[in-house]
Amino acid sequence: MGEYTHILVAVDLTEESRHVSKRACSLQKAFDAELSCTHVIEPLSLAYGGDIPMDLSSIQEQIQDTAKSHLQEFAKSLNIAPDHQHLIFGRPETEIHSLANQIGVDLIVVGSHGRHGLALLLGSTANGVLHGALVDVLAVRVGD
Ligand code: AMP
Repeated sequence: MGEYTHILVAVDLTEESRHVSKRACSLQKAFDAELSCTHVIEPLSLAYGGDIPMDLSSIQEQIQDTAKSHLQEFAKSLNIAPDHQHLIFGRPETEIHSLANQIGVDLIVVGSHGRHGLALLLGSTANGVLHGALVDVLAVRVGD
């Protein structure tokens, strides 16, 4: 007890992801743990429902290709092997939780903007991940 054995870092693939994953890497080294990473692609249909009366599949494909290569690049820079990289479709909070259960992580690392006021009421991915997580969650402060 007391040591993390498998850490999952969730990245939105923005510049801030570097900072978040650096923390995850330091912890990985400190605990000699496994490190996995994930990026969740939110399907356009989920974000916009039926509001856009056009076929979004080719745009969705482009988003997917770009996300795939960015995640690969990102994971490579962290020495994360392909079998520890997870590109998933869905809602970030839900997918991060089910992946964490599936691959048996004991720490999830996310970035947090430390929002306040209305933005806080509206919620954030970090909040969503924290609520309902069965394991520890580290919210790394980003931006400002
Ligand atoms: P947000 O609250 O949406 O600004 O995101 C804060 C943090 O949630 C990011 O730094 C990531 O750790 C995580 N996150 C947000 N969106 C995604 C995503 N699509 N896939 C994986 N992690 C995400």
